[in-house]
Amino acid sequence: MQPDYVGMFWFVNGELWLKTISLDELRKEMKFKFTQRNVITYPDAHFKVWVNWCEEYGTSEKYKHFMYYPRGRISHFPKSNRYELVIDSCLIANAPLVDGILSECGISRNNTNIVTQSDDKSKHYICHRCRPELFDDEGNIKVEGYT
Ligand SMILES: [Zn+2]
Repeated sequence: MQPDYVGMFWFVNGELWLKTISLDELRKEMKFKFTQRNVITYPDAHFKVWVNWCEEYGTSEKYKHFMYYPRGRISHFPKSNRYELVIDSCLIANAPLVDGILSECGISRNNTNIVTQSDDKSKHYICHRCRPELFDDEGNIKVEGYT
C-alpha cells in the first residue's frame, strides 16, 4: 500500500510543484509526539521551501516572492485520521489539479476537507492573481505586512 503523505505546493505557470513527506517518515522522526499533535504537516514553512527549491533547480522564479504563485498545504489530523487541503481560492475549482494533489499524497476526497484561507485575516494563501495590487512587476510584495 502506498503510504500517505503531507506536503506543500505551488502552481507555477500551469505546473504543480509539490513537496511531500510520508507520514511513516514523520512517525519515525517524531515518535510519541506524532499521536499527541493535533495536526501533522510538512515541517518547513513555505518561504523556506520556496527558496531552497528554487536554489536546487536553479530557476529564476527565486526572484519572485514565495506568495507570488498560488499555493497550498496538505495536513493530517491523527486523532480523526482525516486530512486537510488548504488551497488558494483561485485554484479550488481546478478539479484535475486538486485530484492530482490528493492522488500524489495517496489520500482521497472523502477523507479530506478542502478549504481556502484566501479571505482570512491571516493573509494566507493569496497570490498575484488574487491580489495583483500587492505585487510589483518583479513579483515582489510591495505592501507592508505581507512579508
Ligand atoms: Zn490566487
